[in-house]
Amino acid sequence: MVVEPKVRGFICTTAHPVGCDMLVKRQIEYVKSKGELKGVKKALVIGCSMGYGLATRISLAYGMKAATLGVMFDKEGSGNKTGTSGWYNTKAFEKYAAADGLYAKTVNGDAYSDECKKEIIEIIKKDLGKVDAVIYSLAAPRRQVGETVYKSVLKTTDKTYTNKTIDLRNNVVSEATIEPATEEEIEATVKVMGGEDWEDWIDALKEADVLEDNALTIAYSYIGPKITYPIYYEGSIGRAKAHLFETSKKLSQKGYRAYISVNKALVTQSSAAIPIVPLYISILYKVMKEHGTHEGCIEQMQRLFARISSGDLGLDSEGRIRMDDLEMKPEIQDEVKKIWDSLDGDNFKSCTDIDGYWKDFYELFGFGVDGVDYSADVEV
Ligand code: NAD
Repeated sequence: MVVEPKVRGFICTTAHPVGCDMLVKRQIEYVKSKGELKGVKKALVIGCSMGYGLATRISLAYGMKAATLGVMFDKEGSGNKTGTSGWYNTKAFEKYAAADGLYAKTVNGDAYSDECKKEIIEIIKKDLGKVDAVIYSLAAPRRQVGETVYKSVLKTTDKTYTNKTIDLRNNVVSEATIEPATEEEIEATVKVMGGEDWEDWIDALKEADVLEDNALTIAYSYIGPKITYPIYYEGSIGRAKAHLFETSKKLSQKGYRAYISVNKALVTQSSAAIPIVPLYISILYKVMKEHGTHEGCIEQMQRLFARISSGDLGLDSEGRIRMDDLEMKPEIQDEVKKIWDSLDGDNFKSCTDIDGYWKDFYELFGFGVDGVDYSADVEV
């Protein structure tokens, strides 16, 4: 069938298999062009099918020749419904990995569940013996523990916050007002996006004797500028990220090389859902592209594992890996702030890289990729 994008606000309900395949291939080529790295031989990537997790998997496989086992939560196509882009990305990755003699297996299931952990452990026992790296790149809206379902919220933690945003449905600047979360909502957000499940994974792998003693484990985080603090760093999600950081310290005490990596703000399915952040991203893209320092997920992750390979992690004073170093440079942030303050409905298009934002957004679903014939029939 011919697959077209069906965009509803910050989500697209279709995905293009050929476009996804092409983008995976492009990321593989990028990593190969940067040369060989070392440090990881057998990795588990939790949240491996899109965004930072997919770029991680590609960087490990094609930079370090690592065997990769992945966990994702995606849907296969059926009838005239397309699969999710994560599904197509993963099929493409597995195809290229097999052709290049690289081990790659993926479990499609709920990473939070015991069943998924058991399934992964069985595969490691059978195929790999032990893994020496666990990368935690989950971005999920909910987590089920027994009968209880925790839902994460994107809210402030103290007072109502109003600021500019993009209305993604109409592509105009508007205002967003974000209400404070209740204590219960904050706790639920920490349950979903904090470090509890990361630690559960590490403990389960260790107990089953499928994790190397001094394994490397990294979870991804974000800090960002003051403009987004109320909704991100100091918001409900920020509380979860603070918990993630505390978990990294606990895991270090257990003997692992455990870190959080603070990554750059980028268009992904998860970041598109956060109010205010997409407008910040579209300004950031413009400024960083003008400075020649813009990076996407693959450039970020290749650079992260190049740091791991060299042993020079570039930690900040609190021990966090800062891949947001270029984003947070004062000259970049000063320009972003100036644009933010002067932004209105009239100058929005010229002051932001909104076209770059939308290009990346469509690419998340395999659309708008050069060289793909979108009028052709494809097998979904
Ligand atoms: P994404 O939406 O692109 O990918 C999320 C991944 O998690 C997908 O592979 C999906 O299949 C998987 N997933 C979701 N729920 C799952 C479940 N229940 N079981 C198994 N797999 C599941 O997200 P992303 O933006 O790449 O985010 C990954 C991490 O990076 C998050 O911790 C996020 O906070 C962090 N981060 C993102 C940004 C950004 O700007 N996008 C910046 C810094 C840090």
